[in-house]
This record gives sequence, structure tokens and C-alpha cells, in this order.
Amino acid sequence: MNILVSACLLGNNCRYDGKSVPCRQVMDLAQKHRLFPVCPEQMGGLPTPRLPSEIVNGKVLRSDGVSVDGEYRRGAEAALKTALDNGITLAIMKSASPSCGNGRIHNGRFDGGMTDGDGITTALLREYGITVINETELNTIDELTV
Ligand code: SF4
Repeated sequence: MNILVSACLLGNNCRYDGKSVPCRQVMDLAQKHRLFPVCPEQMGGLPTPRLPSEIVNGKVLRSDGVSVDGEYRRGAEAALKTALDNGITLAIMKSASPSCGNGRIHNGRFDGGMTDGDGITTALLREYGITVINETELNTIDELTV
């Protein structure tokens, strides 16, 4: 099965801090499935490293107050295109990210707090009927990939 995956979970150093968050369980899925890594923030044109960003009143702002909403939305469109071009119906996206997070994301106050909600890319993928889980929900992977 073709699966869209946040590139940082596969060891790509594309996070805002220039690091990755490799997840062995996600990487091992490559033995049975075809994984399509995407980093929506880089695909939207943002540099690495970059200042952290959060969703504030529906728009993505950097920690210095500058809007990067356009870049986030361009990156989401690019990730969606990768999914649609490859018949992808399942995505494993990094938790908490303002792009890739699903269910819980940072609260927009840059204080480490969290709130309910999806990142910009996850919200778009879901609009198009793509199932999105994060790296903490892999216990559901067998039933999602039958
Ligand atoms: Fe990882 Fe997504 Fe952030 Fe890129 S945008 S670093 S893939 S969480």
C-alpha cells in the first residue's frame, strides 16, 4: 500500500531545529509498504532550520510574529498532490506539528501548551478523505492497511 509519511519520522533532518524524530516502527513499514516522505514546511519554501511556528487564530505565525501562512498552505497543497498523484488513502504524520499534527497541536501561545486541532496539511488531507494517524497510533496500522 502507498502511505504518505512525515519525512522527519523517517530520519530526514527537516524539522524547524534542523533535527529529525526517527521512528523505528514507521521506518519498518517500508518492508511491506511504499512510503512517500513529505515535509510540507520545506515543500512550501521554508528554510531549515527555521523559527518555530504555531497556528494563531487560524493563521500560521512564526514565533517572531511574522506570517508564514502562505508557505504552510503551499506546502499542504504539495503534500496533497503527492497523495492524490499516488492513490494514497493513508498518511502517518508527525504529532503536534502545525503542519502535520492531528488531533492535538500547539496552542498558538508559544508556551509549550497544546490544544485540540489539526495541522494545516493534516486538515487538508482529511478534507480529501485521506485517513491521517500519527506515530503514536500505529497500533491501528494493521486494520488500516488490509
Ligand atoms: Fe516533520 Fe511535518 Fe514538520 Fe516537516 S512539516 S518537519 S514533516 S512535522
